This record gives sequence, structure tokens and C-alpha cells, in this order.
Amino acid sequence: MDTRAALEQAALAAIAARADEIVALSRAIHADPEVAFQEFRAAARLSALLEAAGYRVERGVGGLPTAFRATLGTSGPTVAICAEYDALPELGHGCGHNIIAAAAAGAGLALAPLADRLPGRIVLLGTPAEEGGGGKVILLERGGFQGIDVAMMVHPATRNLVDRGSLASLRAEVTYQGQAAHADAPPGSGVSALDGLLTFFATLNALRARLRADARLHGIISEGGTTPTFIPGRAQARLSVRAADHRYAGELLDHVRRIAEGAAQATATTLEFCTAAGYLNMVPNRTLAQAFAANLARLGRTVTPTTGRERMGSTDMGNVSQMLPAIHAYLAIADEGVSGHSVAFREAAASPRGDAAALDGARALALTAIAVLTDPELLARIRAEFAAQRAAGRVSGLPA
Ligand SMILES: [Zn+2]
Ligand SMILES: [Zn+2]
Repeated sequence: MDTRAALEQAALAAIAARADEIVALSRAIHADPEVAFQEFRAAARLSALLEAAGYRVERGVGGLPTAFRATLGTSGPTVAICAEYDALPELGHGCGHNIIAAAAAGAGLALAPLADRLPGRIVLLGTPAEEGGGGKVILLERGGFQGIDVAMMVHPATRNLVDRGSLASLRAEVTYQGQAAHADAPPGSGVSALDGLLTFFATLNALRARLRADARLHGIISEGGTTPTFIPGRAQARLSVRAADHRYAGELLDHVRRIAEGAAQATATTLEFCTAAGYLNMVPNRTLAQAFAANLARLGRTVTPTTGRERMGSTDMGNVSQMLPAIHAYLAIADEGVSGHSVAFREAAASPRGDAAALDGARALALTAIAVLTDPELLARIRAEFAAQRAAGRVSGLPA
């Protein structure tokens, strides 16, 4: 038997031996939801398990108390497996990140006994706060991904997909200041900040009609006065701007800013326009995705080909994919039509189908890590594809 087949067999045997433990981990995280940056118990569970299996664990990586980096091996090409474990406020694990955590940890446990035989390193990266906090964006900025050649993760969904992209996502906070006054005060003594905001929204709706098909523009009024008998001196909205590529999302945000400025002029209010660094669009590495798909097929999962027209969300793994070759694969846990961030999806994340996805995720991640480390030609093709994407300006690459 060649080395690769022997390693694969050993990894699958390790998962079979620890299947109950991997499923129990998924269920335990599901039953104990912790929101972004507060995932202390989940991070502690994962890092303790990996440490006991022989990983060198750094806790609190990048100044994030609930991030960790667990390393196996000392030299050679390095494959990272990302674990997310944050829950949603009020909804608990409605995005099923307990399955991401269990699959990643399961792959880590499967690869641990192979440490001396693997020609490279495995890094299990605990990445907090995917839901709005951008843990991976912070880790990228603070060197959490240094030394990593390839990054992978799985996410639960309603289909098995290996190369679906994600939308670039930008956020803005728009604040109008006017002149607060009692509603009965003589005309001209107050300036309604809410008028500024409503004028802004009216023009924004005109822009929405002209958006490119992949773009999404949504907003809420987060502050619009306190009582109807008082002219509000301050009003505020929060906006989300998303598109298939971050350049177009950036152009849209500039357009939104000009609309906001126009509304301020029209209503004699003053404007404060704050933007937040958002998530970049995912550029999946197709070569890596194909290797992953081949492993899913071996496990009996049918992979749905992507058309580029499917509904997409946003993820901080998009930022990772712009810096190094990466994939964000999806594993089916619920029927088509069940949407993420719902009670039904939360239930699926702690169901037999959810458990099966945690185990298959662990298997496919472990097998693909073995493939990347034992097949220099595969790694060379993954790198060549990334270099071509970089030359085409679609990804930026890690700063040296
Ligand atoms: Zn989510
Ligand atoms: Zn998610």
C-alpha cells in the first residue's frame, strides 16, 4: 500500500473510533450556544481536545481570547482547517457552527496519530465571531494565518457544494443631526434630523431599482426620535451593501454616500457617514475544491455543481480566500428550502443528518489535508491557480 492510501485508512479508522466523541462535541456546543467573541466554553473544549491529542496549542491568538491555533508537525507545507463556533443572538446555533467546530476538531483528531508520517504541518485554527465580528479578518491582520499555505472549512447547508462563492459585504452607519425642538415651537425653530434620514431612504430606494442583479442593499432606521411631540435632533440608519465582488460593493457604497450627502443638503441637516470594514467575496480555489469534491464522492455524497447564480451569503472566509488558496465547502443537513438562521436549521444542526455532516466533514477535511500534503503536484496546481487569480486582480495574496 502506498503512503497516501495508508494515511487515509488510518485517518478514517481514527474517525470511526472516535465518532461518538465527535458527535457528542457537536451536540454539546449546540446545547451551549455562545455569541461572537464570547465562545469561551467552545474554544476551551476544542483546544483541550486537540492538546490532549498531541497538538501544540496557542490560546488567545491575535489578542482574541476565544481564538486558538493548534499545530501538528514542525515543518513543510501547512494546511489550515478553520473551526467556527459562534452562535446567533436569540437563535442559538441557527447557523450550525457546532457542526463546523466538530468537523474541524474531528479532522484534527484523525490526523493527530499520523503526525510523524505526514510530510507537512496541520494547523487547526479556532476562528471566533464569524457572525458579524469578523474573527478571521482580525486574525489575518494580526498574523494568525502566517505560514499557512492552504485553508479549508466546511459549513452546513441544504446541498453539498464545494465551490460556491460569497458576497462581499460592507456596512455603513448614517447619522443626521438637525435641531431638536418641541413640535409646537414656532415654525423654523427646529430642524428634523428624521427628515434628512427619510429623504436619504427615498433616494436610496431609487438606487435599489438600478442595482446589478448580484447586489443587495438593505437598511434599517436604528434611531428616529423619541416622541412624536418632539422634532428629532438626531436620526440614524444602519446599512448593508453586498455584491459579488468587493470593487462593485465599494462603488455602491460611494454612491450611497453621495445620496446621503444630497439628502443632508436638501434638508439642512448635517451628516456623519461611517463605514465598517466588511467581508470580502469568496474566491474558491477550484483545484482544492475538486480534490475536496472527490473525497466527498468517496464518502457517498453527491456534490451539486455551482452555476454562479445561486443565492449566496457573506463570510469572513472570503477575506481568507483573497489572501491564500482556500475553500468554504457546504454539507447538506436539511432539505432544500430550509433557510439558514432559522429555527428549522437550528434543529437540523442537532439531528442525525447534522451528526452525519459533522463526521463526513471530518473525513473529507482529513482526506483532503492528506492529499495536499502527500501530493506535491496537487499543491503546485493549487498555488498556480491562486497565482493566476492574483495576476488577474481577483485576489490580493498575503503581505510578505
Ligand atoms: Zn450565519
Ligand atoms: Zn455560518
